[in-house]
Amino acid sequence: SVKWGLIGSSTIARQFMIDAIRAQPDGEISAVMSSNPERAMAYAMENGIPAAVSSLDALLGSDIDAVYISTTNELHFEQALAAARAGKHVLCEKPLALTSDDARKMVAAAKAAGIVLGTNHHLRNAGAHRAMRDAVAAGRIGNPIAARVFHSVYLPENLQGWRITRPEAGGGVVLDITVHDADTLRFVLGDDPVEVSAFTQSAGMAGSGLEDGAMCLWRFKSGLIAQSHEGFTTRFADTGFEVHGSRGSLIARDVMTQKPAGSVLLRTASGEEQLSFDREDLYTRSVRGFHAAVRGEGQPPATGEDGIWSLASAEAALQSAASGKTVKIDPKL
Ligand code: NDP
Repeated sequence: SVKWGLIGSSTIARQFMIDAIRAQPDGEISAVMSSNPERAMAYAMENGIPAAVSSLDALLGSDIDAVYISTTNELHFEQALAAARAGKHVLCEKPLALTSDDARKMVAAAKAAGIVLGTNHHLRNAGAHRAMRDAVAAGRIGNPIAARVFHSVYLPENLQGWRITRPEAGGGVVLDITVHDADTLRFVLGDDPVEVSAFTQSAGMAGSGLEDGAMCLWRFKSGLIAQSHEGFTTRFADTGFEVHGSRGSLIARDVMTQKPAGSVLLRTASGEEQLSFDREDLYTRSVRGFHAAVRGEGQPPATGEDGIWSLASAEAALQSAASGKTVKIDPKL
């Protein structure tokens, strides 16, 4: 079995990851760590977790095999390094760190310690995105030419905290959502981005100079061009993802979400077909792949290297928005 320690009394763990771990036949949550002892205790009680601790040393010194890090973004780096040093496997939330330099150090530390490091890019685990990836890989749309990602949402009131107020915690929509879009594009296309040009905005929700909307233009190695739209402020938008190829188009709706929802339409000269795909919970599948990697069976669904790629992409988008120039993407892998 895999005994987990949670680092962070977070919303994402409460809403999705605790259930996803418990859905595994061999998954167990042993302890939660919060920086605040009362919050640790309350969170443990509320979620039926046997132990609550308020220091990283106490958590890493306890009988656990793996940690799930879902603290605010500036904390991931040091917490992951400490966990690797203690020989614990690490499933880390995105962005892995605030800079791709730090993310590379995390991957190096995981290698040196011989532990598994995964990035919790949930969308790779969506049936919809896997169906799109399979269709692209099977040549069903011919040569992919262009892609469009619609991922501008309304940040729920209970999450209108550090994401829109604290630059030092890694707030802003680019580190929050653009990382996911960069990863999902790489996953579905089986291709890597080489450069990005981005505009960002503050449309009334985020303060302290943080952006709450972004539009990015990406060029991929194959020559494919893509656009992505991320936002916190669009109350009435829906999400989608399209890939257009020389012989067909994939048109997915309501798929940039945490739920196993949405539809994927394949349109070609022979007509239209709704692709069928499994509706397993995304996070449950993410943890299952991570557990397999811990047993030595393959890689987690999104590796540390994938986390470096998504962060290097987001970093380049922020640099582009700040400079008004197109920026090369180099994960230095
Ligand atoms: P939350 O804001 O819910 O939690 C982040 C931290 O806030 C917690 O670790 C906790 O610190 C602190 N906190 C919680 N409650 C309070 C409080 N009442 N007062 C002060 N501090 C408090 O974050 P999210 O769950 O939204 O995000 C956490 C991480 O997960 C981020 O890195 C984010 O990018 C990622 N994420 C990933 C998603 C995905 O689908 N892959 C989806 C959502 C988020 P402490 O632990 O010290 O108590």
